[in-house]
Amino acid sequence: MKRLWAPWRMPYLKNSQPKGCIFCIKTKQNDDRANLILHRGRHAFVMMNLYPYSNGHLLVSPYRHVGSLEDLDPETLTDLMRTAQRALRALRLVFRPDAFNLGINQGREAGAGIESHVHLHIVPRWNGDTNFMPVLTDTRVIPEFLESSYDKLLPLFQTVRKTAGARRRAKAGKRSRLKQ
Ligand SMILES: [Zn+2]
Repeated sequence: MKRLWAPWRMPYLKNSQPKGCIFCIKTKQNDDRANLILHRGRHAFVMMNLYPYSNGHLLVSPYRHVGSLEDLDPETLTDLMRTAQRALRALRLVFRPDAFNLGINQGREAGAGIESHVHLHIVPRWNGDTNFMPVLTDTRVIPEFLESSYDKLLPLFQTVRKTAGARRRAKAGKRSRLKQ
């Protein structure tokens, strides 16, 4: 069952994706639930992978349509990584994984499904998680399965966002007090 971890090759994407960039298309639409978007940050967002390699396989991506990390400005890079932290925290709380794989494929030869818009894969892993694949290979199970994961993760992103916001506000308060 070694092929469980193979997000660097996305065989289904080529045949089933609509024309154009799904990251740009989906973030411009207003139906985050249908598009499995869990979180919208300032420069980056979190979306569930429609073709997951494990339960809770998330994609973290900037809004900007660029193909490579080196094309992102420092602020966007920071937000991308902070958004990845939120995703990791939410996944830990909901799915209690033993480990994670994180990775970015840049370019078709590296296995990128959507090579023109850079995105970070976050794949939770469990001890003995090879049992999982038979569920995912049954295509009838996937939509329900994704929805159920979405429902479990969404409140966590809201909580995480509030907590982060509160922290920022506290920091800003401290800064303004120092200035006075
Ligand atoms: Zn795009």
